[in-house]
Amino acid sequence: MNCFLCKGQLENKTSTFMVEIENSIVIIKNVPSQICSQCGEVSYTATIALQLEQIVEAIKPGIKLHTEISIVNYTEQAA
Ligand SMILES: [Zn+2]
Repeated sequence: MNCFLCKGQLENKTSTFMVEIENSIVIIKNVPSQICSQCGEVSYTATIALQLEQIVEAIKPGIKLHTEISIVNYTEQAA
């Protein structure tokens, strides 16, 4: 697969996914990603994207009780 921006080579690595929900930042670490070796664009496979969505949904109810930043480890949540 190639980068949809620059057609560079995609490498399988892990990255940190960040999303803002209700004024809180949710950080998901160690997400399996495809990262362009040329421009650094990060993309996820459909499976990973879905898994990220589910992780976010799962932690949403607890977010308001948390502090402003929630840090989740993908490898623990996806297991
Ligand atoms: Zn690229």
